Amino acid sequence: MPAAPVPDLRSLSLEELAKLVERMGERPFRGRQLFRWIHHKGASSLDEMTDLPRPFRERLAREARLTTLAVDAVQRSSDGTRKYRLRTEDGKFIEAVYMPEEPGPDAFDPEADEEDEPGRKRVRRTLCVSTQVGCAMGCGFCMTATMGLVRNLNAGEICDQVYRVNADLRRLGVEGERPLTNLVFMGMGEPLHNYDNVLRSLELLLSEEGPNFSQRHITVSTSGLVPNILRFAQDTQVKLAVSLNATTDEQRAKLMPVDKKWNIAALIDAVRRFPSRQGRRVTFEYVLLRGVNDSDEDAARLAGLLKGLPVKVNLIPYNENPGLGFGDPGAERVAAFRKALGARGITSMVRKNRGRDIAAACGQLAVEGQRPVRTARN
Ligand code: SAH
Ligand code: SF4
Repeated sequence: MPAAPVPDLRSLSLEELAKLVERMGERPFRGRQLFRWIHHKGASSLDEMTDLPRPFRERLAREARLTTLAVDAVQRSSDGTRKYRLRTEDGKFIEAVYMPEEPGPDAFDPEADEEDEPGRKRVRRTLCVSTQVGCAMGCGFCMTATMGLVRNLNAGEICDQVYRVNADLRRLGVEGERPLTNLVFMGMGEPLHNYDNVLRSLELLLSEEGPNFSQRHITVSTSGLVPNILRFAQDTQVKLAVSLNATTDEQRAKLMPVDKKWNIAALIDAVRRFPSRQGRRVTFEYVLLRGVNDSDEDAARLAGLLKGLPVKVNLIPYNENPGLGFGDPGAERVAAFRKALGARGITSMVRKNRGRDIAAACGQLAVEGQRPVRTARN
């Protein structure tokens, strides 16, 4: 009989941990203690858990594992952004990007959602997390796509990005025990293509005994896996962003192969059916690509598609990737596109490009980490 897989303690819910602890003959409160070490304090090893009896820790080490990421590289931008390259235990690289933002009218807002927090006073510290090593979706403009899908991250690995960055921020003297306030699932990978692990990670991140994030401070972004958008609407209250990126199927299918399976009409229909509870309007993301989808006609078509939908629009000027053949339209075109949308009653936000001085695009740092070393020099 094949050996049962070793459970990853960081991927288990409080109830599952309690059961595991019970099977080991320990008292039930040990489960909660363990959960708090893992998800509240973000412990990186069993050795840290000094108030658990040593024999219990030793048994856990033999019979289970505690998935922990290693910080492999950090790049710092002049605007405060920090890009973390994190190494998984099997030697894969993923990326998480920290973006601090002072309160104010220009605040970075991944959700373009000013009404949610009128007169926001506190500093927002957002982490962009990865959900897969690479991505299977093949979008032509995206650096992560060039890797293909290497593997899914498990729930513990998704959560641990938050815990490693929190630990680093504490080390830097950022106030608070858990400095991060907001999460966006917009790093490497397609979250809804790793549905079960992403959902599990959300439950862990929202748990009161754990990091206790608020539902309205977490946004998951998808390239448009329609059936899973509908599931997601039922399964969780966190926010959703949809990467539209084009206004005709002809154009979108060329940029995003997913459009051949679920076209724009199906995607808009799923968003129309997404329950829009207070503060949970869906965000449409639209990456502006020079000469591809950035004309006034595109803006007019976009306004037509979104007419009557209670949505928000985030315009993202393209971060150029060498070799992929797409360009940033430039500030003037971006402003004109936004104005053309506004003239048709659609308000939009322009995503500030963070950390451009440290890497041209999302995913780049981790993609590079995975390239085979070709010469003695690099
Ligand atoms: N896979 C999910 C989430 C990760 S990508 C998704 O596609 O939504 C997060 C966002 O970054 C998407 O809106 C995507 O269109 C955008 N994006 C990808 N590469 C980019 C680049 N080089 N410049 C600007 N935005 C990019
Ligand atoms: Fe994957 Fe999103 Fe990149 Fe498309 S844009 S390849 S879905 S990470």
